[in-house]
Amino acid sequence: MDHLVKDALEGDRRVDTQDVDSIQRALITYMVRVVGTDPRSAGPRDWFLTVSHLLKGILSERGMTTSRAQYGQGTRRVYYLSMEFLTGRRLMKHLLDFGVESKMREALEGLGQDLDAIAEEEPDPALGNGGLGRLAACFLDSMATHRYPGYGYGIRYQFGMFSQTIEDGQQVEHPDNWLHRGNPWEFVRYGVNYPVRFHGRIVCFKDEKGRQKCQWVDTEDVLAMAYDMKVTGYDSPVISNLRLWSAQSTNAFDLRYFNQGNYIEAVKDKTTSETLSKVLYPMDSTVLGQELRLKQEYFFVSASLQDIVARHLRAHKDLALLPDKITIQLNDTHPALAVPEMMRILMDVHGLDWEPAWDLTRGIFCYTNHTLLPEALETWPIGMLEHVLPRHLEIIYQINHDHLQQVRFRFPGDMEALRRMSLVDDSTQRIRMAHLAIVGSKRVNGVAALHTRLLRENVFPEFDEMSPGKFVNVTNGVTQRRWLLQCNPGLSDLITEAIGDAWTTDLTALTALEPLAEDSAFRARFMAVKRINKERLAVHMKGLTGVMADPDSLFDVQVKRIHEYKRQLLNVLHVIHLYITIREGGAPVPGPRTVIVGGKAAPGYHLAKLIIRLINDVALTINNDPQVRDRLRVIFMPNYNVSNAEVTIPGADLSEQISTAGTEASGTGNMKFALNGALTIGTLDGANIEIKEEVGDDNIFIFGLTADEVAQTKQRGYNPWRVVEEDADLKRVIDMITSGFFSPQQVNRYHAIRDALFEEGDRYMVLADFRAYLDAQAAVDALYQDPETWARKAILNVARMGLFSSDRSIHTYADDIWSIKPMEL
Ligand SMILES: *Cc1c(COP(=O)(O)O)cnc(C)c1O
Repeated sequence: MDHLVKDALEGDRRVDTQDVDSIQRALITYMVRVVGTDPRSAGPRDWFLTVSHLLKGILSERGMTTSRAQYGQGTRRVYYLSMEFLTGRRLMKHLLDFGVESKMREALEGLGQDLDAIAEEEPDPALGNGGLGRLAACFLDSMATHRYPGYGYGIRYQFGMFSQTIEDGQQVEHPDNWLHRGNPWEFVRYGVNYPVRFHGRIVCFKDEKGRQKCQWVDTEDVLAMAYDMKVTGYDSPVISNLRLWSAQSTNAFDLRYFNQGNYIEAVKDKTTSETLSKVLYPMDSTVLGQELRLKQEYFFVSASLQDIVARHLRAHKDLALLPDKITIQLNDTHPALAVPEMMRILMDVHGLDWEPAWDLTRGIFCYTNHTLLPEALETWPIGMLEHVLPRHLEIIYQINHDHLQQVRFRFPGDMEALRRMSLVDDSTQRIRMAHLAIVGSKRVNGVAALHTRLLRENVFPEFDEMSPGKFVNVTNGVTQRRWLLQCNPGLSDLITEAIGDAWTTDLTALTALEPLAEDSAFRARFMAVKRINKERLAVHMKGLTGVMADPDSLFDVQVKRIHEYKRQLLNVLHVIHLYITIREGGAPVPGPRTVIVGGKAAPGYHLAKLIIRLINDVALTINNDPQVRDRLRVIFMPNYNVSNAEVTIPGADLSEQISTAGTEASGTGNMKFALNGALTIGTLDGANIEIKEEVGDDNIFIFGLTADEVAQTKQRGYNPWRVVEEDADLKRVIDMITSGFFSPQQVNRYHAIRDALFEEGDRYMVLADFRAYLDAQAAVDALYQDPETWARKAILNVARMGLFSSDRSIHTYADDIWSIKPMEL
């Protein structure tokens, strides 16, 4: 058979992707044989399916080569477990990665088709909330590009992140039924399925050697079925896999009812078990302790670990080799149940004793922490765990017992340390998932220098003391392939023409641009590209909102999830201040400026939704005011997602990264904007600090309290009333909102915002940072009046973004945390 495979993959039956004629013939073949449509009557959707099926064939061939090589080399690999992957559309990415975009474009043109129109047919798979899911996607891209043996695991949500419209100024959520017309990229693995068990009870007994053994019986089972999506890297022979699990009811489950003659019940329960992969929880940086979410997490973890262990045993036979052959990276605590699940598999399925099982487990996992916000730290009620996962609760108790022994040894007589470090929060009777992940991992990492420092000093100081070297920093990054090469062809071409294309896989090569900041001809071309991108963005927004932006105005952009800590409210306060200033005609009149805000609020997060409404109310007032609208315009961009980001980011002049210092773990939006030549106005938070260090103080607008100052100010007793009393501009802005100026139909509409700022003590220091923000914005306005200097700084930002590639993050993980090497292929 092997010679047939070789012949099929290498022989002349294969499509030659550098030959237009060969591509055209293949397209027609796929259209007829796979899509089943007559090319004469085919619409854009048929063409999209045809192109993707053609690419899918190539993906499969090359994927096979990669996995054969991996098995052959017995390579150590890394499994990236993430409940979210925000991959963006696949079509253009695969074409770019294979280097066949222009040939495909030409081939389609010859058939009377437009590649860009075809690419628009693809739904954007929104299997994530925001930064965390997008990070996972960037990491898979970097791993494949640099030939690391990586493998992703996630959930194939039937409904991804909701799509957002704005109606009467308010967010409305619509289900994202992204699969309703099929997903041509996936390979369904009917044969790869695992039972995942819930509920039931534990029976323990002594085995023939007198050892205590436990079994989990009378469980309710759901089947996890594998769907594979191939992951390509740029100009790389390595194709890796993203395996997404879908929940199916088990046959046994159906039969139980069926045999009782209760057909309708059987079908109903089938639907119930399938709800596990039905929908992504649309919450970013907050947790909701729902049982279905716990089950979803366990479903994902159990299926992935069963699959990983089975694959390991096929290749290596010996479980003792697990820590040598694999590393499992936990993207946040969502997959933290992997720790007790691995223990269960090793002990209850493979018969290992506790100690050897624990030694193996601790050598396998690494955990990435993503947040400092207390409301985002996962905990689960003990009662719920007992009901849903009784065996895991027992294992967690045993892990905690051993862990607390060590704590007692390390901190003798320190009851406070015991209480703080326990996996069990006694006061709330909940299990702390971050503690479980820390104890079960060999390395824990934060995602920016400040974040890692705060984790070590404030959040988990005793853990850091007990295990020196366990906490490390890996600053996040973004892939320059999607966030420059693909989304900004104008700037990419300009850069490549000037310095070559090494930057596509080594972003530090961009430093070669630095001298060009002093070249007036280059500056002119750089700003001409920005201008075209702004026109493209203006047209895009007009289509979405009906409001046209003037590409000559400064495009001031804040797009990200709507959250109090990200302080979209501070942005609005500045907008209102500008509005007042312009109306009064007081000198100097700033602008013209277009303020663009976009992002989704969690459906149950009332204050975030109210902030969206305020932005829209303010926009309506300003955009309808003939005295103001030529100097200031406000646009709320609906449905921020990867596809919209790809148009928005290249068109920005100013990037708003204004979270309260000490709240944003890293941010990655900040990196994408600077890479595309926007200047940043930002606080000393997350990766902004490292961005400032790289681009230089003169090339970024930094303002506001530092993380330490925020903590001190709060400690000393922060008084929001006093801040407002002492600042007449701020007082006018606040009064305008609370008096109902922007909501005359309902004057008290924004009282909840007033309460958050005053009654609840302005937790995110919006008022405290207002004046400093205004000053920084004034400096922005002044600089924008000097286009040559602005252009110099923008070019220097691009040139100095080398550090913020996800390639650098992945090389760091590979060397310092995972100990993996690129594959030979
Ligand atoms: C990059 C990205 C984010 C993260 O943005 P932050 O500004 O870091 O919060 C969120 N959503 C999408 C669609 C992104 O592309």
